[in-house]
Amino acid sequence: MVAVAMVSLSLRAVAWQDFSQVEVHSTHVAGNVHLMTGAGGNIGVSVGADGVLIVDDQFAPLAGKIEAALKKLSPGSLKFVLNTHHHGDHTGGNAHFGQQASIIAHANARRRMSGNTPASKPELPVITFEDSLSVWFNGEEIRLIHVPPAHTDGDCVIHFTRSNVYHFGDTFFSGRFPNIDLGGGGDVRGYIRNVAGFLGKIPPDARLIPGHGPLSTVKELREFHEMLVETSGIVERAIAAGKSLEEVIGEGLPAKWKSWEVPSLPTARWLDILYRGLKPKQ
Ligand SMILES: [Zn+2]
Repeated sequence: MVAVAMVSLSLRAVAWQDFSQVEVHSTHVAGNVHLMTGAGGNIGVSVGADGVLIVDDQFAPLAGKIEAALKKLSPGSLKFVLNTHHHGDHTGGNAHFGQQASIIAHANARRRMSGNTPASKPELPVITFEDSLSVWFNGEEIRLIHVPPAHTDGDCVIHFTRSNVYHFGDTFFSGRFPNIDLGGGGDVRGYIRNVAGFLGKIPPDARLIPGHGPLSTVKELREFHEMLVETSGIVERAIAAGKSLEEVIGEGLPAKWKSWEVPSLPTARWLDILYRGLKPKQ
């Protein structure tokens, strides 16, 4: 019950958001890559001789502002939209941008957007993949790497190989508790394993674009991993001791994690995700 109430509350918060007040800003990250922020998931942008490619496109009402901000970065035309996963705060602009560019996403992400319709609609990916796919664009290989179930079952991490930039989608929330979409194929242990796997692979000078939160490096990814390991350990021990979800939420987390709360993901909601994700299935 608690979970249902919280989920519907957060959906309504999105519906009520006043997008007229949102400003879209861009920052150069490295090489060809820029970060664009407004409301919703962070947008990665590649600009260069071949034109423009974006990673995710936030909410539909922001498409005009995003388009204006892209025009400021480059006069080139938009060729590709890469979706890191299916959620509406990352794909809401697809209906607009899909009329001018080809959308690429993991097969499960398209399935969750469309119910697997073969029909072509501007908001749906036209190219899907299972394990990985490369787009050779603006002088570099841009790799889309599918990861085992983490935030959803259709996540990919995007590696701009020459610019040395990674866009993590929602498999990385920098400095804040993440959402893990258990109903959308997400997996708490898979989520943590995935972060650990990338920690072992990413060079220290790489720039990391999280799905939500500020531009980061391996340092912030490591802090995120520490938070995931420690808070999931607390909940795992509480489950083993036979505690209920209400007891776990009542006990809360150590004060050091208080600053990781955001309005859409307070400690109680993070504990709810961990509890439901870690509790053995009956
Ligand atoms: Zn998401």
